[in-house]
Amino acid sequence: METSDLRRQALSLLKRFYGYDSFRPGQYEVISAIAGGRDAVVLMPTGGGKSLCYQLPALLLPGCTVVVSPLIALMEDQTAALIANGIPAASIHSNRDETANRGIIDAAIQGKIKLLYISPERLLSDIDLWIDRLPISLFAVDEAHCISQWGHDFRPVYTQLSVLKQRFPHVPVMALTATADRLTRDDITAQLGMREPLRWTGSFNRANLSIKVVQGASKKQRVDAVRSLVRKYPNDSGIVYTLSRKGAEEMAEALRVYGIRTAVYHAGMNAEARADAQRSFTDGDVQAVCATVAFGMGIDKSNIRWVVHNNLPGNIESYYQEIGRAGRDGLPAETILFYSYQDVIMRRNFIEESGRPLVATEKLEQMQRFAESTVCRRRILLSYFGEVMDHDCGNCDVCLDPPSRFDGTVLAQKAGSAIIRTGQQAGIMTLTDILRGSARAEIRQRGFDHIKTYGAGRDLSNAEWNAYIAQMIQLGLFEVAYEEANHLRVTPYGMRVIRGEVPVELSTFSPYAKGTKPAKKKAPEVSMNPVEQLFEQLKAVRKQVAAATSTPAYIIFSDATLLDMARRRPATMEDFVQVHGVGERKAVRYGKKFIGAIRKFEGLSATMPQGTTYKETLILHNAGIPLGEIAQIKGVTVDTIRGHIARLVDEDMVSSFGNYISRAEYEAVTAVIATGDPEAEKQLRDRYSQATVNLARSIYNYYQRNKQ
Ligand code: ADP
Ligand code: ZN
Repeated sequence: METSDLRRQALSLLKRFYGYDSFRPGQYEVISAIAGGRDAVVLMPTGGGKSLCYQLPALLLPGCTVVVSPLIALMEDQTAALIANGIPAASIHSNRDETANRGIIDAAIQGKIKLLYISPERLLSDIDLWIDRLPISLFAVDEAHCISQWGHDFRPVYTQLSVLKQRFPHVPVMALTATADRLTRDDITAQLGMREPLRWTGSFNRANLSIKVVQGASKKQRVDAVRSLVRKYPNDSGIVYTLSRKGAEEMAEALRVYGIRTAVYHAGMNAEARADAQRSFTDGDVQAVCATVAFGMGIDKSNIRWVVHNNLPGNIESYYQEIGRAGRDGLPAETILFYSYQDVIMRRNFIEESGRPLVATEKLEQMQRFAESTVCRRRILLSYFGEVMDHDCGNCDVCLDPPSRFDGTVLAQKAGSAIIRTGQQAGIMTLTDILRGSARAEIRQRGFDHIKTYGAGRDLSNAEWNAYIAQMIQLGLFEVAYEEANHLRVTPYGMRVIRGEVPVELSTFSPYAKGTKPAKKKAPEVSMNPVEQLFEQLKAVRKQVAAATSTPAYIIFSDATLLDMARRRPATMEDFVQVHGVGERKAVRYGKKFIGAIRKFEGLSATMPQGTTYKETLILHNAGIPLGEIAQIKGVTVDTIRGHIARLVDEDMVSSFGNYISRAEYEAVTAVIATGDPEAEKQLRDRYSQATVNLARSIYNYYQRNKQ
């Protein structure tokens, strides 16, 4: 196919099925590579638009695209979104009974399904059973980082996917991931046996996300931070990620005390309770979800306004993916990472129990360096993903409030000599207690209150000492003996500092309270402009529709779509399809409801002027709606619709006619028209409506025009 034809066709599918006018960077490049039979590796951040990279080729190519996906929730979500857009999609997984799976398999074999989602396990076990009977045009491997030992989420079964290239050498393979360092990327290509794939690496910079890391905040300060976020975005929602179930529950309790609508989500809950939590989140019923990391995978909720990490994530990939769930709509969103050295210790202990301590430890250390860094955080993140950013971002805590440095030699000496005097038998908490002269029983029992430096650091708070000790560890003065109850040891370099041979610089710890006072914002009702008002009303309509159809709200329309709708205020179907994210199927299904609300808002009569524009008919025609139904939807006669179609045929906008006139009718009418006898034409009208005659004439002219 000519390149320009391909592009035109791809754009037309994009508009029809998704309601978008243009591709995001990289999408078309990937699509055209696949259309040309080439493999592709797609690296884009969460929310970058990866799904479209394989979904659009699925529409362009004949046959079926098989999507390998590791998570049932993810498959279900994608399938629902596709179906809502009028694209035949299905998923095969173990949560559904086998009869249903069987039905899907049969449909797929018959070529009735454009996108089939399946787990890698099932794909591999069924490859000889029925997979090889599918008319496969493309394999898409989602979350492809799972294939690599170097990745943070290695799944051994993924390594067997090399069989795809062996068994289906002519079917292009696409690998997609949001999270991969360079080693992982190379691994993906090699393990899948790809041949000179197109590699597209989208920018990982999500400039709309503000990044903030806070060291040593107390529980109360953390809760206050979430409260102020909720106050700032009362009608939207956010996620608090915690390491443990208990942490999630505690945080939720604390927030509820302040009347914040909060849900909990963790693996200890049963499937139903989890589904409930997820639903109330996606429907916008709760303002916050306190969750362990399992939450959020596959949720395409675009109006998450903030993400808070109550604990240090285990690696940068996870962290970036998790904060990336905020602000997918491109509007500003905030993220806060609460960091304490205790988290590092806890994670280290986890890692000992995990299977791959070396990789995991290395990744944790990178995460820790990020959290403790005093340079622009976005620069660190992007360089981790292999992207060079040559300027500071201006939207992270380091850029907005650069840390100042001071001579920390004396502090290091106090801490170091205390460590030595405990016989290197103290962890961070105990050390802090000693320095601050704590009266805790354990300190006295162990005789630590007799140490010379006991109470020598009273002038600093717990949080300050925690932060400074963490820096000292990071600078290599002390090390943590993970194998010995996490006690601190002084390194040779630390000894030199203690002896006063070398000075050491620390960055000033800024107490967290500063700059995080709950924003004093006027009640939104007062300050809302008309766009915001309508936007809120449209959200309410979406909620009604969601409830009435048992569809998650975000599958109906995203916030970005509702916002565009509120700006454009379409009062007719023709204007409605111009809205960003309104494809044909959704226009037909939901148009009336939303247009009705907009018309009411504008003070127009709630019902649309019926059947006024022939372009509306085009929309319905393209969506494959039968003639009778189009007439019914528009409240006009079938002949009026035939009139619209005739006009569309004249303008070369419609080229399939079976829906509106039968072959016999067409032949009978055109036979008479061809004679050019006006009398004979007149007599036609006894047997056919004027509209049918006109339509036949338009089609006849169409064929004449397009003969060559
Ligand atoms: P990813 O899988 O990379 O996390 P998605 O494929 O879920 O991202 O896309 C994120 C959001 O961006 C979705 O709401 C999607 O509909 C939207 N999107 C994707 N491509 C485009 C485009 N070309 N124009 C407008 N919106 C798009
Ligand atoms: Zn920055």
